[in-house]
Amino acid sequence: MIKKIEHIGIAVKSLNSSNELFKKLFGKEHYKVEAVVSEAVSTSFFMLGETKIELLEATDPTSAIAKFIEKKGEGIHHIAYEVDNLEEEMLRLKNEGFELINSTPKDGADNKRICFLHPKTTNGILVELCEEKK
Ligand code: ZN
Repeated sequence: MIKKIEHIGIAVKSLNSSNELFKKLFGKEHYKVEAVVSEAVSTSFFMLGETKIELLEATDPTSAIAKFIEKKGEGIHHIAYEVDNLEEEMLRLKNEGFELINSTPKDGADNKRICFLHPKTTNGILVELCEEKK
């Protein structure tokens, strides 16, 4: 079951300058910075009530974030929904006709197991499913 919006991912060119910008916007500091080596990104997280904002900066020109910014510029990159059982949701959504980008769960930032759905099957929005690691 999809429970809530866990976070919104925003692609940025510079994590440092965007951390400053979002600090002004939210009136609070990010609570963590974390590199996801497998995705070639560096991330930072802000907590807003129950929802987080994840800023993503490419650490390598081959990173999906680098390609996204090249094509579309900075902006909203994905919406992440928290699920209670990742494998079950992946199977359910696959059977509903959504295209999974990764067919097995992978490690995401902030202690999560994740799976992405291809934007071509979700009205142009990259969807992340995430489940807290137990
Ligand atoms: Zn994310």
